[in-house]
Amino acid sequence: MSISGNIGEIRTRIAAAAAKAGRNPDEIMLVAATKMNDSAAVREAVIGGVDACGENRVQELQQKNAENAYEGAPLYFIGHLQKNKVKYLVGVVDLIQSVDSLELIRLIDRRAESTGTIQDILLEVNIGREEAKSGLMKESLEEVLAQAGQFPHVHIRGLMAIPPADSDPEQTRPYFKEMKQLFIDIDTKKYDNVSMDFLSMGMTHDYETAIEEGSNMVRIGTGIFGERNYGTT
Ligand SMILES: *Cc1c(COP(=O)(O)O)cnc(C)c1O
Repeated sequence: MSISGNIGEIRTRIAAAAAKAGRNPDEIMLVAATKMNDSAAVREAVIGGVDACGENRVQELQQKNAENAYEGAPLYFIGHLQKNKVKYLVGVVDLIQSVDSLELIRLIDRRAESTGTIQDILLEVNIGREEAKSGLMKESLEEVLAQAGQFPHVHIRGLMAIPPADSDPEQTRPYFKEMKQLFIDIDTKKYDNVSMDFLSMGMTHDYETAIEEGSNMVRIGTGIFGERNYGTT
């Protein structure tokens, strides 16, 4: 199937999952996870009507950006964020989804101030408490959110999570539920420079479950582009 055909099918399944949960499908954003796909493929996805593109690696992002691959769609950074890469992203991407420390927020704020922008970010939560994964433990969220007011050039727009991978989405459902509850709790607490607009969770194998549990932003790679080729070519 073609990339635009795949996107059409995903939209249909998003609508069905939303209907099942009594939600409006228009409130759910479809982000194309574009890693390892070339500019031509990314352009097809943008033309095919994804709501945004999410890139994982700064170098890949810069290369495809130079080739105007993302033109016509907002650009997000969704990969692991290193401190020394902050300067290449602030003011370039519309949303950094993978912020998991006050130190990163401080660096983003400083860079945004010097470039005269306000950078939208999400806080990444390590909801499965996995050693090997990045993200804040949920117990640390409060401390970070309470200090967000000190960083006027950063706007925290929501939460992102990559729960433990499981071929059965029912195993992942409790993590999605927990994320939604954190999202609601934070929203009622009203921190400065914080608004809970986006709950980014759900990938190719589990996005329908994520939507049933309250996700309003799914990040899909394989389902749009097909299997990634990890070979050397
Ligand atoms: C690759 C990636 C995705 C998409 O994964 P698929 O299983 O291919 O849909 C989503 N989010 C992040 C952070 C990713 O790195």
